[in-house]
Amino acid sequence: MKRPDCIVIATGNEHKVQEISDILGGTIRCISMKSLDGFPELIEDGDTFEANALAKASQLATWLQDSMAVSGHWMTLADDSGLEVDALNGEPGVYSARFAADETGQMGNADDAANNAKLLRLLKDVPDQERTGRFRCVLTLFQPQASSTPAQHWAFEGACEGVLQHQGSGDQGFGYDPLFKPLGFEQTFAELGSKVKNTISHRSQALAKLKAFLD
Ligand code: IMP
Repeated sequence: MKRPDCIVIATGNEHKVQEISDILGGTIRCISMKSLDGFPELIEDGDTFEANALAKASQLATWLQDSMAVSGHWMTLADDSGLEVDALNGEPGVYSARFAADETGQMGNADDAANNAKLLRLLKDVPDQERTGRFRCVLTLFQPQASSTPAQHWAFEGACEGVLQHQGSGDQGFGYDPLFKPLGFEQTFAELGSKVKNTISHRSQALAKLKAFLD
């Protein structure tokens, strides 16, 4: 694999762009698709993290090839992540962002407070030892088809095991962070803060594998 000069990141979430650029940016130019005029809306309707990450990375690559918005040897990168709770048979999983949307009547994603409230309600009678789960992340690097080579992609996965609390604590982070206490720690992700979280999180583990692949 010839190292790309530029990686275009398929997300609108600036926190993720920053985290990815911090880890990869020293050697490869990383840009957010949001910085490109007319960037496409990406559809993620798969039922696995792998399928969604690949869908987003390949849709963005198709748009970049058509629009010629970036030159040189570029690749796209997309991630998909979520929370799997054992007592809920792996839910909310790929539906993590829109978990409570059916209850709030929101189109698309629900807000974090509604998602957390639904999770707490479903886990109300679940005892401590059964409140296990994990955040999972899949990152997909996508190389578009070129004259002599077919399109190719590589997936990198990270997971962080932990326990779901009975109530939220901490005000840092996002999503389910206030409810998730990673294994080996006495505080939730939202109390630990990004410095600690970024050394153990599902996303940082997947990114470390991607970095090793590119180095
Ligand atoms: P996506 O990968 O941006 O589609 O994230 C899906 C959803 O999973 C987010 O909206 C959050 O609800 C949840 N999620 C993913 N990663 C994290 C995390 O690091 N902390 C808390 N929630 C997360």
